Amino acid sequence: MATNRTFTMLKPDSVEKGHIGAILEKINASGFRIVAMKLTQMTKSDAETFYEIHKERPFFGELVEYMTRGPIVAAILEKENAVEDFRTLIGATNPADAAEGTIRKLYAASIGENAVHGSDSDENAAIEGAFHFSGREMF
Ligand code: UDP
Ligand code: MG
Repeated sequence: MATNRTFTMLKPDSVEKGHIGAILEKINASGFRIVAMKLTQMTKSDAETFYEIHKERPFFGELVEYMTRGPIVAAILEKENAVEDFRTLIGATNPADAAEGTIRKLYAASIGENAVHGSDSDENAAIEGAFHFSGREMF
């Protein structure tokens, strides 16, 4: 069932560099409603579970290290066509390939440290949102 919701994380590099406000401004300006949001930090086990699909990839260890090194902003966002529109707003995984004006083009340092997460399907958006938030934290 399409829910018109997606899940995002402003990754540790975005928090470290003071980019939370600028990224949230772009998210708001693009018409997303914030359903849930918090500053939180993933444990190693959280990150290994969250990125389990990538566990055989050569970058998995670095990815877990990066995603657990400091706090993130986790959020659930709502908009018509949320998953696809948010992927368009954040841009390609590698900022070198990301379109002008996208969040990753503006704020990502590299393919590894790429500023933000965006769910890749409605199904994963629901799973990832439920990983970070209880029902009473969603509005
Ligand atoms: N990643 C990486 N090296 C790569 C591909 C991905 O370090 O060659 C990291 C990067 O932080 C990326 C995350 O792993 O955001 C998940 O990869 P995915 O292919 O799902 O990219 P995304 O959906 O985030 O664009
Ligand atoms: Mg992905």
